[in-house]
Amino acid sequence: MSSTPRNTAQRDRDRARIKATRANCHICGKKIDYTLPHLDPNAFVVDHIIPLAKGGADTLANKAAAHRECNSKKRARIVAPIIRRSGSLT
Ligand SMILES: [Zn+2]
Repeated sequence: MSSTPRNTAQRDRDRARIKATRANCHICGKKIDYTLPHLDPNAFVVDHIIPLAKGGADTLANKAAAHRECNSKKRARIVAPIIRRSGSLT
């Protein structure tokens, strides 16, 4: 891991570029309302196609538009514990 701080100016630029394309959500394929406030579940967020934690690059090529909710569901799926349904142990 590098100790260099993330380049937030670059990140803002990538975000603006993705927003300018008015792309559909890359997770569910539906339209994104780019005018929604950013905390709205359907608001636009920048998603990493390959998560940074899995070695994805923090570059425009690895970023795509997504709904906030789709993005958090995707994250939940990656970290969700496996819930086993156990029967009676008698
Ligand atoms: Zn979506």
